[in-house]
Amino acid sequence: MARLHQSRKRILVTGGAGFLGSHLIDRLIGQGHEVICADNLYTGSKRNIEHLHNHPRFEFLRHDVCNPLKIEVDEIYNLACPASPVHYQHNPVLTTKTSVMGALNMLGLAKRLRCRIFQASTSEVYGDPEVHPQREDYWGHVNPIGTRACYDEGKRCAETLFFDYHRHHGVDIKVARIFNTYGPRMLPMDGRVVSNFITQALAGEDLTLYGDGKQTRSFCYSDDLVEGFLRLMESPADVTGPVNLGNPGEFTMIELAGQVLKLTGSRSKLIHLSLPEDDPRQRQPDITLAKEKLGWQPTVPLAEGLKRTLDYFRKLT
Ligand code: NAD
Ligand code: UDP
Ligand code: UDP
Repeated sequence: MARLHQSRKRILVTGGAGFLGSHLIDRLIGQGHEVICADNLYTGSKRNIEHLHNHPRFEFLRHDVCNPLKIEVDEIYNLACPASPVHYQHNPVLTTKTSVMGALNMLGLAKRLRCRIFQASTSEVYGDPEVHPQREDYWGHVNPIGTRACYDEGKRCAETLFFDYHRHHGVDIKVARIFNTYGPRMLPMDGRVVSNFITQALAGEDLTLYGDGKQTRSFCYSDDLVEGFLRLMESPADVTGPVNLGNPGEFTMIELAGQVLKLTGSRSKLIHLSLPEDDPRQRQPDITLAKEKLGWQPTVPLAEGLKRTLDYFRKLT
């Protein structure tokens, strides 16, 4: 049957009630697509999607991706998985299950529907990297039995499934390796460093610096990242990824704390707590591939992104 709106797609976003998923859905709805958000609300929140309640092109499905899903869609974004170390270590077996069984079920769905599928993978596949900055051809340095392994190995196995479904079943895949991303709709005190520091600074509490604070991360603003998602999804079929998506600007956690204190005008102090197990010493994406294949690079500097995030957190309190 001819479709009524040729350019309008029906798109499934798993994990769509989460931080990144909800921003992605806003962009897709804005482009005129129909969106089905499948989420079990494990770490996501209805608040992130409540503005879409009753929207004629939006549907919420309370669903756990560990279970099969039989629906008809044109495209799938698979984002369902807790992302903060505190959240994913809360029930590590469930994290691995979500990553692996979620990927398997969504790939089975994509295979049956012959539709394109995007996977939210992570810079954690590089573990505590010995190569710096990280390029996509680096195989990584992951402790398979450590406390981060439930997430790191779960995501690595999901990538394996994506490439095996691609090679063996011809599934049209897009794998993004996402580096630390922040922005409005992160949960306050979800354990991630940006949300922790902002919440603490606003409350006048000490900022909790883990270890010596000299470890580095590269922070990407959510709008920039979602633009990368859309460009990867629209890219030619031979661009399967994995493609790094992140902001190459690299900062120590001490520098990040300094920026948050400056922006908030807070007089909070820094206190040192112990470094979590297997915490990577350094992390910075090489985004040459994304620039070449997608014409993508981040545009929002850390100070500007933090300001926007701060505005959001201020309104919450
Ligand atoms: P988030 O925790 O805000 O969102 C994850 C969403 O998945 C939540 O809405 C949660 O309820 C849902 N979910 C979890 N388990 C589920 C299950 N079994 N079935 C259905 N839904 C389930 O995290 P986020 O930062 O928005 O991350 C989204 C995706 O991006 C994740 O896959 C994460 O691994 C990946 N990622 C994020 C970052 C980052 O810095 N934000 C970095 C690398 C990778
Ligand atoms: N699957 C699903 N929706 C579908 C098709 C498959 O959730 O529309 C699930 C299915 O239940 C299975 C997984 O995806 O657990 C892999 O499916 P596939 O057909 O590749 O493998 P098989 O079912 O033969 O093991
Ligand atoms: N971190 C910190 N204080 C906090 C939370 C995190 O110093 O309150 C550190 C953490 O040890 C890590 C970095 O900040 O070195 C980034 O942590 P996050 O959990 O945000 O992301 P990930 O470790 O997954 O990159």
